[in-house]
Amino acid sequence: MHRKKADDEEKREEKPVTARHIARRSFLATGLLALAAAPFLLKSRPSLSAQTSIPPGRTTAAAADAAKDWGTIKEIRMSDEEWKKKLDPKAYDVLRCEGTESPFTSPLNNEHRKGVFKCAGCGLPLFTSSMKFDSGTGWPSFYEVIDGHVQTKQDNKLYMARTEYHCAQCGGHQGHVFNDGPAPTGLRYCNNGVALRFEPETDKEEK
Ligand SMILES: [Zn+2]
Repeated sequence: MHRKKADDEEKREEKPVTARHIARRSFLATGLLALAAAPFLLKSRPSLSAQTSIPPGRTTAAAADAAKDWGTIKEIRMSDEEWKKKLDPKAYDVLRCEGTESPFTSPLNNEHRKGVFKCAGCGLPLFTSSMKFDSGTGWPSFYEVIDGHVQTKQDNKLYMARTEYHCAQCGGHQGHVFNDGPAPTGLRYCNNGVALRFEPETDKEEK
């Protein structure tokens, strides 16, 4: 654990916020060390305390949503057969086989209400409406993500290095994150709509 903390400190000092953003998630998803540390990370989310102050360049609403306490992540493990039964075929293809939905097919492209975008596999909140932007790509896009709720890995399938990200709770594939997003983060989380479920904010919760 000391080693991890030291690494995080180093990244915080040396890299700009966007790089740190990716680096931290890459770190979480990387190798045996992450596996060994997983129970600890999932239960107490130790890096969260470092983010309670909003770094410069992150908008208040999205950053506050990202750093909010969303509860405990409980790792979900199900067999392929169980996922097949639970999910509809399109969601299964994206979430469990890293498929990609056709662009401009998701109703979530035009979802502009306030609310939360949750993993369609397990219900873990991944994004809020304050993080969404219209990228024009045909896929729901976000420039921010709830802290610790996705993990990343390198994907070289299309003869170019892309960063794949998946739900931290069930491992379901969501999409790819790119460095051509809008300010303030410069990130573009390009998400398959079928891998998300939108939950509108109720009147009761609105202030
Ligand atoms: Zn999930």
